[in-house]
Amino acid sequence: MKVHQQSINHLISDLLAICAKSVDELSINNSQFELIEKCLKRYLDIEYSYFLIYDGNKFICPNDDVSFDLRYSGIPSALLEKYFVKQTVNELPNILKEKEEFKELTHMILLKGPNENNNLLLIKESSKWKEFTQTEYFEQTMQNISNIVQMLNKTKEIRLNENQYRKLYNMTDLFHSTMDINMILENVLNTIQENFPTFQVELILSNDQDRQTTISIKQFDYLTERPSTIEAFVSGNITTEKASDLNYSLLNAPIKGRQAIYGILQVSAHISYVFSPIEKNFVSMLANTAGNALENAKLYHQSHRLVSDLQLINETSHRLNMNLNMNDMLKLLQKQLIKSFQPMELCFVFIENNTCKLTEACTEFFKTPKGREYIKYVSNHFNKTQDSLFVADFNRLISKDVPYNSLMAIPLIVEQRIYGFSIVLHSESYFFSFDSYKLMQSLIQHSSLAIANSMLRSQLQQMVDHDHLTKLYARSYLDQFVEKSLKTDDSGMFLLVDIDNFKRVNDTYGHHVGDEVLIQIGDLLLDIVGTRGICARWGGEEMAVYVPNILDDESIRLAENIVDTIPIGTNPTVTISAGMIVWHKDERPDFQTIFLQADTALYYSKNNGKNRVYIYDEELEKTL
Ligand code: GH3
Ligand code: MG
Ligand code: MG
Repeated sequence: MKVHQQSINHLISDLLAICAKSVDELSINNSQFELIEKCLKRYLDIEYSYFLIYDGNKFICPNDDVSFDLRYSGIPSALLEKYFVKQTVNELPNILKEKEEFKELTHMILLKGPNENNNLLLIKESSKWKEFTQTEYFEQTMQNISNIVQMLNKTKEIRLNENQYRKLYNMTDLFHSTMDINMILENVLNTIQENFPTFQVELILSNDQDRQTTISIKQFDYLTERPSTIEAFVSGNITTEKASDLNYSLLNAPIKGRQAIYGILQVSAHISYVFSPIEKNFVSMLANTAGNALENAKLYHQSHRLVSDLQLINETSHRLNMNLNMNDMLKLLQKQLIKSFQPMELCFVFIENNTCKLTEACTEFFKTPKGREYIKYVSNHFNKTQDSLFVADFNRLISKDVPYNSLMAIPLIVEQRIYGFSIVLHSESYFFSFDSYKLMQSLIQHSSLAIANSMLRSQLQQMVDHDHLTKLYARSYLDQFVEKSLKTDDSGMFLLVDIDNFKRVNDTYGHHVGDEVLIQIGDLLLDIVGTRGICARWGGEEMAVYVPNILDDESIRLAENIVDTIPIGTNPTVTISAGMIVWHKDERPDFQTIFLQADTALYYSKNNGKNRVYIYDEELEKTL
């Protein structure tokens, strides 16, 4: 007994030394547990021993040289609790014996701690030990060992926490100094990886995040995300899940700011792993820190964007108010939309008499059958409502394969009436952010009135430039056209046409039929001249044709063609007389001269039997 007493005294004193040293050196690592194991060997002949430390959820083995799964997977505490109903020492249960590393062991001892935070000591029984358990010091010694283990453990935990908090602090510090979303996210991933090298981490972010991140991020998708992930996202609380299909134990920590939840930080470990409260707390704090940092960065970028958005709207409105013509206006808007939203396709469509008319500001795609499907969808939508359209997943909406999944469509509205709309498309789902949608809405709404005004202006101009009855150009337009051509072109022909005996048509068939004939002649002229030149109503039943850059031969053929065609194409049939002049750049006449000379030639035609054309020359004038 004396020997025992002495060994026990030594054992206790050695344990205290370990303890004191550990506190002194302020470095707690697993070697302290090994030292205790050595003491047990020395004083009690215990050849094999292991500590199992309770981490709040499960028992883990702190020995560095025990590299088996247990280190990370742990043994759920509930499995062992039932063995300690009465006594402190128990035979090693089968559940532990099955582990290869423990197969030599025979007993386990409960090391009682406060608040049920009990640890375990596993040993291979020796005769000395057996004797020792019968002595009066046994209980007290075990309690001492318990306390020491408890203390080592607590100190270790504090050190670990301190270390983690230092990292968290450094990270927070960095987050305060950066608005770089990439850097924030990258740091979150690195910090977890550094602290828990055996875990895998994934960032699952909701789609209204900035998309220019370079690190690997999963988009949060309500339809495909696991229920535990959705629950964490919706509730803002951390969730865990044993995902047996993935063979993973999952921890979902919401990335939470003050205004919103931006995503989920998902940590996965082996399926048998149980996350400790400390780990959960750390991951949760990390996710919160990241959430706040992301939010700050987001608000910062948002305010910058707001300023540049306002500048864009301001600049656009300003330029739109500079009385641009319609096409220039649409082209300007097209440029701004492309610059701001990088769509793959874009169009401006006007609705006239319930039909959609593509403007010049449209990409080729909208002229194809697939493009027209998009226009039809949007136009149907605007038939029912004046609300803009924001679609992130078009193929799901119409349940078929389509080339472009992201769509924004904004109506052009003036005085509560939709007169057109603009569509932008991108193949990638969720390409446009909600902010982009809002900006496009403002941009289009601010431009709506200017576009409508310019549309009215161009309609008015159209009316002014054209003769109402024949749809030919009005004389004023012709005047400008000819005057410009006389300055800039190399040559030109001017043909003045007068219907022969038109009074008789009016007298015989009535004024109404006379009008019909005028329309017929207008159509014939447009047909013959086409895009080669312009046709105008000169006044009354006189019309004019002007063709720039034309050779003499071609002008004669054209004039004769007109004189020959009109009697065939009119009903009641009429003939016309015409006078023509052709000019060349070596002698640029003025506009008055051109008209007078053509009129002279016309007069000559009338006087020489009508139904013919004369070309003006000086000789001809002399004969008059
Ligand atoms: P001529 O061969 O000498 O040209 O004989 P004409 O009968 O055509 O004579 P003139 O050119 O002087 O006649 C012009 C007539 O054209 C007078 C007018 O009644 C008719 N006229 C002019 N403008 C219109 C119009 O807008 N509609 C109709 N129906 N008749 C018009
Ligand atoms: Mg006349
Ligand atoms: Mg006439």
